[in-house]
Amino acid sequence: NDEGKTYEFQAETRMLLDIVAKSLYSEKEVFIRELISNASDAIEKARYLALQGKPLDSTEATMKIHITTDKYDKTLTIQDSGTGMTKEELVENLGTIARSGSKAFIKQLQEGGGGDPQNIIGQFGVGFYSAFMVAEKVEVYSKSRLPGSVGYCWSSDGCGRYTIEESTDVEPGTKIICHLKLSCREFADEQTVKGVIRKYSSFVGSPIEVNGEQANSIQPLWLMDPKEVSAEQHDEFYRYVSSSYDKPRFTLHYRTDAPIDLRCVLYIPEGKPGLFDLHQGAQGSVALYCRRVLIMNKAENVVPKWLRFLKGVVDSEDIPLNLSRELLQDSALIRKLRTVIQNRAIRFLYDKSRKEAESYSKFFGDYGIFIKEGILSSQEQVEKEEIAKLILYETSALPPTQKTTLPEYIGRMTADQRDIYYLAAPSRELAESSPYYESLKKRNVEVLFCYEPYDEVVFMQLRDFNSKKIVSVEKEMREDKDAVNFGDAESGLRKSEADELMNWMKSILTGRCWGVKATSRLESHPCVVTVEEMGAARHFVRTQFTQIP
Ligand code: ADP
Ligand code: MG
Repeated sequence: NDEGKTYEFQAETRMLLDIVAKSLYSEKEVFIRELISNASDAIEKARYLALQGKPLDSTEATMKIHITTDKYDKTLTIQDSGTGMTKEELVENLGTIARSGSKAFIKQLQEGGGGDPQNIIGQFGVGFYSAFMVAEKVEVYSKSRLPGSVGYCWSSDGCGRYTIEESTDVEPGTKIICHLKLSCREFADEQTVKGVIRKYSSFVGSPIEVNGEQANSIQPLWLMDPKEVSAEQHDEFYRYVSSSYDKPRFTLHYRTDAPIDLRCVLYIPEGKPGLFDLHQGAQGSVALYCRRVLIMNKAENVVPKWLRFLKGVVDSEDIPLNLSRELLQDSALIRKLRTVIQNRAIRFLYDKSRKEAESYSKFFGDYGIFIKEGILSSQEQVEKEEIAKLILYETSALPPTQKTTLPEYIGRMTADQRDIYYLAAPSRELAESSPYYESLKKRNVEVLFCYEPYDEVVFMQLRDFNSKKIVSVEKEMREDKDAVNFGDAESGLRKSEADELMNWMKSILTGRCWGVKATSRLESHPCVVTVEEMGAARHFVRTQFTQIP
């Protein structure tokens, strides 16, 4: 009997499978891409282990992905000579959800935020489990490449349980047989399968054969001359590396030899960042290669955290292959790579802000929060100021539809203006009618308006830009040193009257204010309250209020 061979899927996996199997998601074909990408990952891993001199069972000279179709049996089979899986790995990898994409998928579903599961499947791709969109039964024959391993057959109809049995004649690597549902028998057709591979998997680093014929080009796009890559190729490559279905909005394809050898293709997605990308722990999607060998798929440290919205590939010949992944995480080399990439990305984006103002402004609307995070998280003033070139603000000098960068603001400063002024307010309207703004407006001084809670914190961290102090108009008002000329008609009060008024105010505000003073700066407002660090005060007030249940 089957006792001891039958296993239950983990609850989350069951839930996922249930949705996937019943899904009406129209692009079911993506399961091919998911299975090929797993096969390719396994091959890259095996290649990497071999390069490190790890003992592996029967290292094939060429590692290939073999696909076979059988119309009569209604099967699609994908076989790879990758790492293979031990019994424990089969349980761990195919019985539970460890994968970040699927986890995010489940989370979104549980939070009910997603609405339409069909869209979410498209958004995340659900990895191995997507096979159950098309198959009534999936068999996985696998044998680990570690010497002395035994072969197993994992099998499931995707309804709660699976079995694992020892199996003879299993080749090292993994073979997945999809027994197709009647309604999905098109995937047992060679031409259909080849078409899907062309669409999604052209850039897989290993040869893919369909019924014995090569079906992909394996041209690594990032090694090509940037001038020779078409927009369509980039679209395709973007979808491949980012596992998403939109397009790139900006593409940075670039090569350099100094100070470090680097070929990279980096994309900024057309779509807005997902909740998942915003999360500080998100890994980002830049893969690190060395001479076409994948070193790490989601190489966290290759781009700085705040640039985690970038998708793409970085290839550097300077990376020693025998370095362990752990060491790679924080080597001086990786730090250098990260600095070079950050500088190049900043230059690229700053260029966009000047040459394609409109699309840049849209980008900033979607991704500006990352840039602010960059300023807050960076340790050095020079670096902060570099990143700060990318921020856009509304300004008193331009209509609300137009925004300015800090360098543009500086370009408009008059000779006698020393500082950069900003005003934090909930809206343009309130900013323009603010008593704090009034005095500067009268003197014709440009003021940046900012509306987001982070903005003030960012300015307080940044402090200077291009050797100019960044000053809150509130602070400027507080430090007003101009004496009021009580003699003239403008002030309306005589000195003695003003003193009397201020003394009276001080007496009723005892213990609640530092001081009361007269100013000639206000015109339409009778008075204004200032605080030493207004930004901090406002932040405090905000958090106090928002924390009240
Ligand atoms: P992901 O690929 O994002 O990790 P999947 O659901 O596609 O998620 O796959 C889950 C896990 O199963 C993989 O991480 C891998 O460990 C294992 N796996 C899947 N297919 C293969 C394969 N062909 N060879 C070896 N391991 C595999
Ligand atoms: Mg996968």
